[in-house]
Amino acid sequence: MASATPILQLRNIVKSFGSLNAVDGVSLDIEEGELFTIVGPSGSGKTTLIRLLVGMDSPTSGDILLRGKRINDVPANKRPTCMVFQSLALFPHMSVGENVEYSAKCKGIGKKERRQRAAECLKLSHLPQSYYDKAVTQCSGGERQRVALARALAFNPEILFFDEPLSAIDYRLRKTLEKELKDIQRETGKTFVYITHSLEEAMVMSDRIGVMREGKLAQVGSPATIYTQPENRFVTEFMGEVN
Ligand code: ADP
Repeated sequence: MASATPILQLRNIVKSFGSLNAVDGVSLDIEEGELFTIVGPSGSGKTTLIRLLVGMDSPTSGDILLRGKRINDVPANKRPTCMVFQSLALFPHMSVGENVEYSAKCKGIGKKERRQRAAECLKLSHLPQSYYDKAVTQCSGGERQRVALARALAFNPEILFFDEPLSAIDYRLRKTLEKELKDIQRETGKTFVYITHSLEEAMVMSDRIGVMREGKLAQVGSPATIYTQPENRFVTEFMGEVN
């Protein structure tokens, strides 16, 4: 999996709000094709960090490198990356297919190919083609998740970021979607960076996990390593929530 240059490198990232360092010196390499989850309790700095990674905000200091190129101040709409929000932000007046085609259009894909691209992405996100003309408002919560994912895939991003997309979904469906998301990530070979407050969710899906505490990474490692060799008391106690 490891490539010569990690797809995303964070070098001593700090984001301050007044005297508070919401992100406080985060350094991390994310490899191409991995599913990396940033997990931590509420207020630990996950949202602030992902906003920097997506380009919704700039770091106070430190560098963010995408394939070795500094992107600190490149705005979100100029980056080859994409985010799936908790709210999903689908267009309610459009059909499933139109929602997905929209991001292919944003990417500059011609009208003819757009439909084909959208159809491919629906398939990738495990939605039947019969859903193409269905109104988004008639889709269930789980189906909407898949539409949001298909729409993000149609953009063909280099990295797909997820901001707690499953947190409002009931337990059983969430378990199904976690597994599906991991399968889709594997099938597409894309780099997924996911944030959640749920360590249980992180353990199921991730190739590697970064545990955040008060703006810092308390530990980075595979789920197995974090589970069997927690490096500090915070991670041990946070782990207790899974057992
Ligand atoms: P998480 O996503 O892990 O819950 P956040 O990144 O939202 O954590 O918040 C980390 C810390 O930064 C919190 O103490 C929060 O109150 C603070 N914070 C986040 N955004 C702002 C902001 N725009 N202005 C001031 N403080 C902020």
